[in-house]
Amino acid sequence: MSETYVVCDQCSQMNRVRLGTKKEAVCGKCQAALPIHEAIVKGSDRNLQALIEKSPLPIVVDVWAPWCGPCRSFAPTFEQASTQYAGKVVFVKLNSDENQQMAGRFGIKGIPTTIVFKNGKEATRQSGVIPREQFGAWLDYSTK
Ligand SMILES: [Zn+2]
Repeated sequence: MSETYVVCDQCSQMNRVRLGTKKEAVCGKCQAALPIHEAIVKGSDRNLQALIEKSPLPIVVDVWAPWCGPCRSFAPTFEQASTQYAGKVVFVKLNSDENQQMAGRFGIKGIPTTIVFKNGKEATRQSGVIPREQFGAWLDYSTK
């Protein structure tokens, strides 16, 4: 059974979440619904910094916005990888319109941009839409 990590938007508690169950994931501390859909965490100005600092697994963040066509065409690649790498990498999507503080901190110049964090620090990033195989190879290299 694979798992991922998510920080609660309400109380900032780090939660380990089991993937592949039908139950809605709730915070172990305050019982609020956790910001996760299937294997993808919904990153925010409230939870992302804590997740980056505390996650025992590497994290990959997809910085996107609803109006961005290339972001939408990259989304299925990211989703597919989130299933494939479940239990090895924490997958996060950050809506840069709704979370300008984190997007600003990352110094995002164009979207989509994907950033890998390891041990609380940025390891590498890449911008633009890349094909599925290439994204997989980039993830393998960046998260090992
Ligand atoms: Zn909570």
